[in-house]
Amino acid sequence: MRFVIRTVAISLLAGWLAACSEAPKEPEVVVYTSRKDHLIRPVFDLYTRETGVKVRYTTDDDGALITRLAAEGKNSPADLLITVDAGNLWQATQQGLFQPVESEVLSTNVPANLRDTDNHWFGQTVRARTLVYSAERVKPEDLSSYEALAEPQWQGRLCLRTSKKVYNQSLVATLIERHGEEQAEQVVRGWVANLATDVFSNDTALMEAIAAGQCDVGIVNTYYFGRLISDKPTLPLALFWANQDSSGVHVNISGIGLTAHAPHRDEAIRLMEWMSSEVPQHMLAEQNLEYPVNPQVEPTELVKGWGEFRADDLNVSIAGARQVQAVKLMDRAGYR
Ligand code: FE
Repeated sequence: MRFVIRTVAISLLAGWLAACSEAPKEPEVVVYTSRKDHLIRPVFDLYTRETGVKVRYTTDDDGALITRLAAEGKNSPADLLITVDAGNLWQATQQGLFQPVESEVLSTNVPANLRDTDNHWFGQTVRARTLVYSAERVKPEDLSSYEALAEPQWQGRLCLRTSKKVYNQSLVATLIERHGEEQAEQVVRGWVANLATDVFSNDTALMEAIAAGQCDVGIVNTYYFGRLISDKPTLPLALFWANQDSSGVHVNISGIGLTAHAPHRDEAIRLMEWMSSEVPQHMLAEQNLEYPVNPQVEPTELVKGWGEFRADDLNVSIAGARQVQAVKLMDRAGYR
């Protein structure tokens, strides 16, 4: 009896092993993403419904995913990496984690300043970082630019998020690119001199401080404003489009790149291309109240309601290329 059971077990095992090696592999793409599960899942589910291609994904922080990809090297199962902030995409490129993608579809759907000049990564959504102010204590005509927040009229009235956040490092990187290091440092020193209170750990806390009267003006990503105002519509806060007479509003991206050793290269490129098309673009932007990277696609009604603005047309890779310089500058200027 024992013999029979063992024989059955062995033949079952043999059959299972044969099935593993012989079964035709289902088409799939493997994605590492720092975009949260609730943002990304509906988009991947739609892709699977439309194409039959399965998307397996892992979510983690940008830094952790980049470290993991680098450590896995040639053995990585990942085909695509999605991160927020061009600085992170730039870092991944520097470490050789991406391979270039030549695609008509992507170069048509993604504006040139929102993708890598060598096609290692492409923007997916656009986030605008602009001024937010107290509608009770500030007149919009008193506002103009990021640089003007360094002027004495804002002394004791400015709130800023910590310089440790990559969003502010990217903003300062563009100031350096536009004005040179010396002038950019003067601006940052002016901001520090105007601070009403210690820096904030996030944009939402900063806006709540403005609403509570702790300060009058600050700099935030607009999707945080959208979330807060959706939650608490009576807060006396408003957005102001910065630098409309000069460089334009500072924008950054979330973006995607094909990994250097992608096991499912062609499938992965097809997914990248599809994500730059209308329906997924709308979904990606709507979920987080961001702007679609594809200029043919409209943002959601709430976002459209904030009005149109001219965006800075510098290539967003500046955020990465000048990140170290920006961090040192902010440190010197006493921006904590
Ligand atoms: Fe954010």
